[in-house]
Amino acid sequence: MIDTHSHLFDEEFDLDRDLCIKRAIEANVKKIILVGFSKETNLKAQELAKKYNIFFPTAGLHPSEANSNYLEEFEEFKRFAKENKIYAVGECGLDYHWDITYKEEQKKLFRLQCEYAIENDLPIIVHSRDAQQDTFDIIKSYNGKLKGVMHCYSGSKELAKEYVKLGFYISLGGPLTFKNAKEPKEVCINTPLDRLLIETDCPYLAPTPFRGKRNESAYVKYVLEEMAKLKGIPISIVEDETESNAERLFKI
Ligand SMILES: [Zn+2]
Repeated sequence: MIDTHSHLFDEEFDLDRDLCIKRAIEANVKKIILVGFSKETNLKAQELAKKYNIFFPTAGLHPSEANSNYLEEFEEFKRFAKENKIYAVGECGLDYHWDITYKEEQKKLFRLQCEYAIENDLPIIVHSRDAQQDTFDIIKSYNGKLKGVMHCYSGSKELAKEYVKLGFYISLGGPLTFKNAKEPKEVCINTPLDRLLIETDCPYLAPTPFRGKRNESAYVKYVLEEMAKLKGIPISIVEDETESNAERLFKI
């Protein structure tokens, strides 16, 4: 398995990070995409990835980092991304859930990162919350030149189909295992297996039976199992396919 979205550098893991990595390896997790989202976490991802070769670090600026200083922040991101090996740009995107003070800045910051990803032939990891249409419009405006993944996708199956047409992958996480998660289950059933990825987004969004607790990369197996069940395909096949999808997208 490949956990395509993990924040194992988070301070939630400061006391038992080594054990979490050990449990992930024991659960048969082979690679972990370590996702940065701010100046501080981009650096943390690099530092942790130097210690264990299971990790592949990314760097990006989350929409909650957007403010009136966004141009300066982006310049700094660019310097960082040039100096360090990164496997994707992101997570980045749009989030209108908590605060829309900097809605325009969010869009501009997202576009800058999309353009950086295209110029540097990197995939993008997209976070989208309560901003489905704007996110899609921006991605679509690059006419298929932009490649990437919709992380912890929470939109409709119809929109997922549009993303697939644009060459995007759909990543599903813990919410897929929730009993009442009708939409992610429909997306899983209707999206072709060669476009699906699995993730944890740990420490957030733990799958059943750990819902509400701290999540960790080893738990990606619950997402895999649910995906196999919903698709009616043996676990080993879904495991192989989602692994090659991640390897293809992130060139790992
Ligand atoms: Zn995340």
